[in-house]
Amino acid sequence: MPSNMNHDYIKLSFGDKVRFKCLRCGRCCSSGPNVGLTAFDICRIARFLDLDWRELKGKYVIAVIADMIAIPTLRDKGGGRCVFLEFTGGQPSCSVYPVRPMRCRLYPFLPSSPSRKGVIYIDGCCPGLNTDITTVPPWSLLKDYYFEVKFHYSRLHSLIFQEGFEPLDALEKVIEEADRLMTNRKRLDISLLCLNGRR
Ligand code: SF4
Ligand code: SF4
Repeated sequence: MPSNMNHDYIKLSFGDKVRFKCLRCGRCCSSGPNVGLTAFDICRIARFLDLDWRELKGKYVIAVIADMIAIPTLRDKGGGRCVFLEFTGGQPSCSVYPVRPMRCRLYPFLPSSPSRKGVIYIDGCCPGLNTDITTVPPWSLLKDYYFEVKFHYSRLHSLIFQEGFEPLDALEKVIEEADRLMTNRKRLDISLLCLNGRR
């Protein structure tokens, strides 16, 4: 997440514990760069705001194209502050907290790679580390995140490199597919892709 913090990533494995409590300082929401999203993140935020996902384009979500892949991110509203970061009574808060992106749910834990399911990193510059609460890394949430990332990027690669889609068209198609998948899952009462309020 934040790029201009002095990162010190600490590797953790299954069974490891860590002392962490979020202090709600807002530092990770105001230090850029923008949070990377999957199609599922976009759909959850759109539903929460009661908008069609297309209405998020430009206002809340932008896409950066790298090596033919359009990478969606949350927009920065200046100075590295996330577009959804608000201050209420001087306290930072997230206006989409129940559906905040997976990367935000995981932070200060940082994914490694879907092929390394038993490894996660923690960002050593988070002020909430080394507080008096002992916890374990969010392994279950990490598994859900990898499911969504794999779906997102495998579909993007297939659409672009096998079916000849342009990067932005491919991204829009993947979001449409994710939206349909979430609707169908909801009908079946499977909550994996509808993570309202879960940490
Ligand atoms: S996760 Fe860390 S940096 Fe982010 S609000 Fe909590 S304590 Fe602050
Ligand atoms: S979406 Fe919410 S939790 Fe994530 S960076 Fe923005 S304000 Fe912070």
